[in-house]
Amino acid sequence: MRALFFEKSLSYHPRHPEPSASDGDALLKVRQAGICGTDLEIVHGYMGFHGVPGHEFVADVVSANDKNLVGQRVVGEINIVCGRCDLCLSGLSSHCRNRSVLGIHKHDGAFAEFVRLPSVNLHVLPRTVDDDAAVFVEPLAAACQILKQIKLDAKPDSRGRKWVTVLGDGRLGLLVAQVLRNANCPVRVIGKHPDKLALCEKWQIRSRPLADIAPRHDQDVVVDCTGSADGFELAMQMVRPRGVIVLKSTVAGAKPLNLSPLVVDEITLIGSRCGPFREAIRALAEKQVDVASLIYRRVRLEQGVDAFDLARRPGVLKVLLTME
Ligand SMILES: [Zn+2]
Repeated sequence: MRALFFEKSLSYHPRHPEPSASDGDALLKVRQAGICGTDLEIVHGYMGFHGVPGHEFVADVVSANDKNLVGQRVVGEINIVCGRCDLCLSGLSSHCRNRSVLGIHKHDGAFAEFVRLPSVNLHVLPRTVDDDAAVFVEPLAAACQILKQIKLDAKPDSRGRKWVTVLGDGRLGLLVAQVLRNANCPVRVIGKHPDKLALCEKWQIRSRPLADIAPRHDQDVVVDCTGSADGFELAMQMVRPRGVIVLKSTVAGAKPLNLSPLVVDEITLIGSRCGPFREAIRALAEKQVDVASLIYRRVRLEQGVDAFDLARRPGVLKVLLTME
C-alpha cells in the first residue's frame, strides 16, 4: 500500500506492507487524514516514534469482527488500551499503562491507504458529518476535554463570569476557542497571525495580536495552545493568583523554565490531552463549530513529505492528506 513512513526522516513508500487485522482489530481504508502539530513534533523525534504517523482521519471499515461495522464510515479513538491494568480497571483507560497510540506510540497510523484499530475504538459517523469535518473529530474532542477538566462556572468573579485566554491561534487554539465560546466563556484568543485572528472576528470571538499584550496576572484561566515553551512562560504571566493554566502543547524540545510563579501565585496547572469523541461528533453534526474555515489545502498522500513542510509554515492551518 501507499504510506508515509518515519524513521529518522519522513518518506513516501509506494509499496509499504499492509497492516494485518486480527484479535478484534478492524481493517480500515483511509479516506483522508489531517496533519496536526503532534505529527510535526513526531518527525522531530517526539515520543521516539518510528512507523506510519497520522491519527486524525476518516475511513471506511473493510473488515471487522462486528459485521455491522463493515462498510461504515468511521473515525477512531487513538489510544489502544489493554483493559486489564489498574488504570484501565479504574476507568482511566486513556492512560492505560500498556497503551499504544495511533501514529504516535507503537502503532502505525493513518497516513496510509489502510490502518488497523480495535473495533471498540471506532465511532460510526452520521451523514451530517462530512469527510472534511470528520478529520477534526479527534482534535475537537481534545478541545472538548478542557470542559471536562475545569469547571468554568465553579467560582465566577463578582460579575459572574470567568475570564479565559487562549494562547495560540493555530489549529488547536481555534478549536479550543470555539468550544469555550459555546460554553459561554468570555474567551479571547492571543495570536501572531492576522488572517487567523480574522477568523475569530468572523466567529465573534475576541482576539488580540501577541505584540499588543501586556500580561497583568488577571486571567482566571489561560489555555496554552502555542506548542512552544514561550507560550507557557507567557501563560504564567497572564494568569491571576490561584488561577488555572491548561497545557495543551506537546513540545519535543526542552527549555529551562522558571516555575516559581506557579508556587508564588498558587497556580493550578492542568495537562490536557485526548477527549470525548461523541461530544465532538455531536458538535460537528449540529454545526456548533466551524472547521471548514480551518482547511488550508488538500495534498495527495504521494506528496505527503511536501505536505508536512507546508503544514509547518507559520500561518498555515489544516493540511489534509487525500488517498485517491
Ligand atoms: Zn490498561
